[in-house]
Amino acid sequence: MNESALREHICECGRSLHDRGLATGSSGNISVRLADGWLLTPTNASLGRLDPARLSKLDREGNLVSGDPPSKEAFLHRAVYAERTAANAIIHLHSTHAAAVSCMAGLDACDCIPPLTAYFVMKVGRLPLIPYHRPGDPALADAVRGLAARHRALLLANHGPVVSGADLDSTLYAAEELEETAKLFLLLRGAPTRPLDAAQIAELTAAFKLEP
Ligand SMILES: [Zn+2]
Repeated sequence: MNESALREHICECGRSLHDRGLATGSSGNISVRLADGWLLTPTNASLGRLDPARLSKLDREGNLVSGDPPSKEAFLHRAVYAERTAANAIIHLHSTHAAAVSCMAGLDACDCIPPLTAYFVMKVGRLPLIPYHRPGDPALADAVRGLAARHRALLLANHGPVVSGADLDSTLYAAEELEETAKLFLLLRGAPTRPLDAAQIAELTAAFKLEP
């Protein structure tokens, strides 16, 4: 996909997330890696009304090359791209159910959401928790860097998920799967639940050649 098609595709994904209530107000941001940097949704922009020509274009170091000023969460994307060289797209949301889980006390910091379904294991994998940081705290980038190499998706405490993938479509599907599984997790609270066991996860990992 060339840059102009990628720009259109980012706006289309943003509209889809917004129209389904997964990105409200000006929350959420989407980026795609380019040969010479990356495209990111601008700061204070609704994902429902993005303009392909005004997306922020950043160089590899995260400096603005063209377009509107980037999302204040650009550093999250930069930290993930630095650690995940095969990642070409990142979606960060404040989606309701995943954000609700991110606020729960007593989460397993290595697996915030248990492996309830095969599709969660296949599209998201293990979901570690990044401890709470105030918006814009540079220490958040360090915390993300520490875990991003080993995880496709991360959950920021009291905030929301950051999901990466090989392309924008697969990243979008993973972000949606994460949100839906967060909803299942909340629905099942208090009910005896049987997550997939280690052998079932190992079978999926081998059958679908899953990478961390
Ligand atoms: Zn955020």
